[in-house]
Amino acid sequence: MKQLKDKIRTEGKVLSSQVLKVDSFLNHQIDPVLMVEIGKEFARKFKDENITKVLTIESSGIAPGLMAALELEVPVIFARKRKSLTLVNDLLTAEVHSFTKNETNEISVSNQFLQKEDKVLIIDDFLANGQAALGLVNIVKAAGAEIAGVGIVIEKSFQDGGRLLREQGFRIESLARIVSLEDGITFLDEVEASQT
Ligand code: 5GP
Repeated sequence: MKQLKDKIRTEGKVLSSQVLKVDSFLNHQIDPVLMVEIGKEFARKFKDENITKVLTIESSGIAPGLMAALELEVPVIFARKRKSLTLVNDLLTAEVHSFTKNETNEISVSNQFLQKEDKVLIIDDFLANGQAALGLVNIVKAAGAEIAGVGIVIEKSFQDGGRLLREQGFRIESLARIVSLEDGITFLDEVEASQT
């Protein structure tokens, strides 16, 4: 998605060979115009899948998840990372290990909002080692619902998540795929174009 790649190129900050900071439009300040376009792009890719729910994880997944849900005209649910005072009974839960923070957290969704008749589109901001997405996959499985696919705003293809999820047979649609953060930001399609 050109608009997204241009934004990453102009505003993304490479913090290390592993981590990209995009706080000015995705992870802290949010660019609503770009977010609408991101939602349209996800909806275009998954429009024939009869999606009934979008599932994401707080907090950075909510903006792209909401915009995709708006375009698909279905509700969006966000998994909570912390226990809620009002969300106590009948929870669907999964463990998510964060390599960056080196901690494991339990994420949860009320089973009220996810049922076995649902066809779910999972959305997240980044795909790195895939643990957050796999946690969401496990929540959908616990509900007995179907997974239509996973939509990712920025995939770091040099980490394992994309391979892990694709090996499990899931359809993964990433709007920007970064192959390297060494010597600046290199996108996958640029490498592919230079090889042809
Ligand atoms: P995972 O390793 O489970 O695929 O990534 C988990 C979460 O870590 C993502 O949803 C995202 O919020 C965060 N994350 C992973 N890599 C990066 C990165 O390079 N930059 C930013 N801003 N967040 C990241």
